[in-house]
Amino acid sequence: MVPKVLQLKCYCNQYPWGKQGSHSLAATLCSKTPGTDFKIDENTPYSEMWMGTYPELPSYVLETGEDLQDVIDKHSAELVGGNVAKKFNHTKIPYLPKVLSIAEALPLQLHPNKSLAAKLHARNPDQFTDPNHKPEIALALGDFEAFCGFKPLTDIERLMKLPPLQAFMPQIRKPDFDDQMLKYVVKSMLEASDEAIEKINDALMKLPKEAFGADSYIPDLIPRLAKQYDKCDNGTVVALVTMNYLQLNAGDSIYIPADGIHAYLSGDIIECMARSNNVLNTGFCPRADRDSIDMFISCLTFTPHDAKEAMLPPKPFERCKNGKVKIYAPPMSEFNMLAAELGDGESETVEALGGPAIMIVTRGEGTMKADGKEHKLSEGYVFFIGQGVEVEYKASSGLQMFTAFVE
Ligand SMILES: [Zn+2]
Repeated sequence: MVPKVLQLKCYCNQYPWGKQGSHSLAATLCSKTPGTDFKIDENTPYSEMWMGTYPELPSYVLETGEDLQDVIDKHSAELVGGNVAKKFNHTKIPYLPKVLSIAEALPLQLHPNKSLAAKLHARNPDQFTDPNHKPEIALALGDFEAFCGFKPLTDIERLMKLPPLQAFMPQIRKPDFDDQMLKYVVKSMLEASDEAIEKINDALMKLPKEAFGADSYIPDLIPRLAKQYDKCDNGTVVALVTMNYLQLNAGDSIYIPADGIHAYLSGDIIECMARSNNVLNTGFCPRADRDSIDMFISCLTFTPHDAKEAMLPPKPFERCKNGKVKIYAPPMSEFNMLAAELGDGESETVEALGGPAIMIVTRGEGTMKADGKEHKLSEGYVFFIGQGVEVEYKASSGLQMFTAFVE
């Protein structure tokens, strides 16, 4: 019989926006994962630790070295269960959790919906490596800054009255500033030349802070973003003028629907997404890396349309004994996320879930009893937990754990 709890080896990638060396939580957790020969180089940025079975950076079973997906394929009934396999019509884990350590803005991006993703994958499988959509959540482990969705139309309309931004407004204007108008504005911001963007950023910085009303962070963020990329990066104007700027604390989470515009700016987060790696980039990256503006604009969604709508607040998770687990449940079918915090000496039992789970320890030490075995828990330990397994946690020193699962 296959063991239903498998400790995993996971790996970390090195995009330039990641935090440097051991400042990167992704790298630190990865280096503490047993069984990897991963050593932190202090001169390298480390961006994302991936947990799961996406082929680009898959996880391996610690004990045997097997690719996790191979084990799952061999024992899908025991590990994934019939319900989940039927729901998704395959036995792959339908989600992909990651730890991200962000020092600089990630590209301004959206993840295409299913029908566009399928078309793009068929046309260009090297860039679009799967036919799936990729709605995602980002859960802050500490201070986290992000641009996410659009501001309310009234706020954008107010900012667009600033003289330097007039150039992005259409010649013929409808009486109301609606989503069609916003689409036009975003498109003209993305199409503007380097010189135009630089000039407009300079002009915005010369305005008195009061001119920005509630959005007085804008003149402070222009030089910060300019330092990271370029004063002429089109993403700066789009993000600052049209998007929600969120400053989140540990435990806060946002949900990004398919086709939702977003760019993460700084912090350490747990991210989880539908099993996909498709992305369209338009800013905070060199021009050569940008996808077609027309394509980007054609699939833009206008949800969320204010900061509050972007938030995904947790709820108590009912299926545990001691109330130490919360659930983040985005409006999508591929996964939910559990967050557990146990103080020194505390314990918790989570009832058997109806599908596969992936759990990471982000803080503390303790033990996990599951499937008739006791496992040591420590920072950076990652486990696959098959369907139908009750799990008993005990903390020797304050434990923090995140578990993605599907049923
Ligand atoms: Zn994203």
